[in-house]
Amino acid sequence: MDLELTPEQQMIKKTLHEFTDEVIIPQARENDRQERFPKDIINQLGEMGFSGAPLPQEYGGMGLDYIGEAILFEEIGRGDSSVRTCLSVQISLVELPILRWGTKEQKKKHLPRLAKAEILGCFGLTEPGAGSDPASILTSAQPKDGGWILNGTKTWISNGGVADLALIFAQTDLQKKHRGIAAFLVEKGTKGFSTQDIKGKLGLRASNTAELILENVWIPEENLLGKVGEGFNIALGSLDNGRYGVAAGCVGIGQACIEASVKYAKERHQFGKPIGSFQLVQEMIVDMVVETEAARLLVWRAGHLKNQGRPSTVETSIAKLFASEAAIRAANAAIQIHGGYGYSDEYPVERYLRDARVATIYEGTSQIQKLIIGRHYTGLDAFGGG
Ligand SMILES: Cc1cc2nc3c(=O)[nH]c(=O)nc-3n(C[C@H](O)[C@H](O)[C@H](O)COP(=O)(O)OP(=O)(O)OC[C@H]3O[C@@H](n4cnc5c(N)ncnc54)[C@H](O)[C@@H]3O)c2cc1C
Repeated sequence: MDLELTPEQQMIKKTLHEFTDEVIIPQARENDRQERFPKDIINQLGEMGFSGAPLPQEYGGMGLDYIGEAILFEEIGRGDSSVRTCLSVQISLVELPILRWGTKEQKKKHLPRLAKAEILGCFGLTEPGAGSDPASILTSAQPKDGGWILNGTKTWISNGGVADLALIFAQTDLQKKHRGIAAFLVEKGTKGFSTQDIKGKLGLRASNTAELILENVWIPEENLLGKVGEGFNIALGSLDNGRYGVAAGCVGIGQACIEASVKYAKERHQFGKPIGSFQLVQEMIVDMVVETEAARLLVWRAGHLKNQGRPSTVETSIAKLFASEAAIRAANAAIQIHGGYGYSDEYPVERYLRDARVATIYEGTSQIQKLIIGRHYTGLDAFGGG
């Protein structure tokens, strides 16, 4: 594995670094305060080609590999995790599943528009009664008139209220448990499909999160993604990609904490010296540097395996577990270094902590990541079976 970035990767990093500094960061605090979804930023990223960067060129993408994708999510996550979340969902949870499981027609119809962010997508798996255990979803899909009737409620869906296209997981036969689940593409405006925004989140306040309500929603057979019974695998495969993006975004939070803390520790004086000259302050900075670098290497290792088409589920879970928990530690320390000023949104570090907090919850909690890793090492499956 070569740890040097290629000239193309360096260019992408530079472009995104500048875009984050010049466009994303100046808007982040106000968007967070107002719980305002940054559609203009997403549009600009779409025009630059980053909304579909990992897609092949024939679908409007750049053919970015997984290391390139990690750079994308790290650089944007350094500025605003709400923007990163929107893009993660668009790329990892909507575009890549359609690319992998979609028909030619589905790919042609949706991918070029998703790649330019002309339309936004969302991923509807979680339900009020089914979070960590997605096999227990109750949203139903019944065949009718050459298509399907969907009924149910999805909750905590990122981009849910702003998406034009929803990837919905539904149960076709409760008796079959996870083998009965199927994935469907539901377009905004379909009769019986509505959304309700969820407000008042601790963090990710500029990210749109919504409940999706499906009341006798009829969709044609051609909107089925993959085959009936493949839905559970589509969900888990998508989450594997999603976790990779979350982990990379958390490396970005760690990096942002380092940059803010170093700057502040050099500017702020107490006892006649910059506070950065005190060993106990340096220790906090060093801990965040070491953990952020370790998290980045874990992400790149998972990306390296994905680039080669090798199994990477366990390595992705390790990266997501470590990077998300490390981002929380880094943001907490960054607040400590900023003292009282870190406790208000005059500085961005309190937002980093609030935004990092969700990363140990969504796309599989830290406990679920541990059970995935533990299953691999012990051969014992906590989720059922031996
Ligand atoms: C801001 C935000 C955005 C989200 N975006 C999306 C989205 O776009 N699409 C989507 O489908 N979902 C989304 N989610 C939902 C998210 O994936 C779920 O919240 C998450 O999977 C956990 O499910 P739950 O909230 O129902 O918690 P539960 O599953 O009820 O878990 C509660 C607690 O129990 C623990 N627990 C559960 N089972 C076990 C076990 N077997 N062993 C040990 N501990 C266990 C969990 O780790 C957790 O600590 C989002 C959530 C948030 C907060």
